[in-house]
Amino acid sequence: MSHNLHQFINKNSKSIPIDENGTFKFTCAKQCWGTCCREDNAGLLQLSVYDVYTFLNTEPEVPALDLIQVKIDEETNLPRAFIKWREDKTCPKLNEDGTCSIYENRPFACRLFPLEAKFFINDRDDSIYPKYVVRENVCFGFRKEANPEIQYLKTFLNTPDFENHLKYEKLEISYRDKWMKKYQIKNLKSEQIHMLAQVLYCLKEKIIGKKTYFFDLYSEMLKIPKRTKRIESFTADELSKLSLEEFAPRLLEKFNV
Ligand code: SF4
Ligand code: SF4
Repeated sequence: MSHNLHQFINKNSKSIPIDENGTFKFTCAKQCWGTCCREDNAGLLQLSVYDVYTFLNTEPEVPALDLIQVKIDEETNLPRAFIKWREDKTCPKLNEDGTCSIYENRPFACRLFPLEAKFFINDRDDSIYPKYVVRENVCFGFRKEANPEIQYLKTFLNTPDFENHLKYEKLEISYRDKWMKKYQIKNLKSEQIHMLAQVLYCLKEKIIGKKTYFFDLYSEMLKIPKRTKRIESFTADELSKLSLEEFAPRLLEKFNV
């Protein structure tokens, strides 16, 4: 197995739209040692609230900010979480043999590769729907040597928990859109954005120098009755609902934006 196969990522690959009954020719050859799981090839790899939840909970003892990084989206000024690459520029979930340690639960963007999803909002009923593109010839899996096979989009996307991932992607887009319209997010100070990021991405780590879980801290600050459960015992659904529907809007109101 050779690392020189990293050269097979083609960043100028052509993106071809594919409809829901469409096909493309590709096989993940697994001969290239997780070439797609490296910073120099993947760049900023975006995580949804649901991805972050999984990312953090598969290794609860590892500090959140060793696994994810939060950056401000220039367009919306809202925080976005991304994979935090290791010092050697590989994904923290990449095994030494080039496989993914959370394969069944891997993030939405990873399970789509070599596809990408673009989401659109229907003006008539605010529903959100994805459209997919194939990044043709992006990696080794398209090459003759990999013996690419015909992939049906529907089957390719049919991975464990895919519907939940899709649901959270849509939920996140919908809230971002609503906040953009409702609040003057651009006026937030960097500390406020940091706090909003903590809420959005359910980070359980020390904040503002206090050794406490952030939900408890926000409960106090926002005068929301204290939770009877520790954060770890909430389901992904409950967590997302709490952060997206309850805490973040209240926090934004408190900031007067
Ligand atoms: S998806 Fe492509 S780059 Fe990633 S491991 Fe498979 S063949 Fe290699
Ligand atoms: S989570 Fe898994 S599939 Fe995604 S970049 Fe990391 S190792 Fe690769």
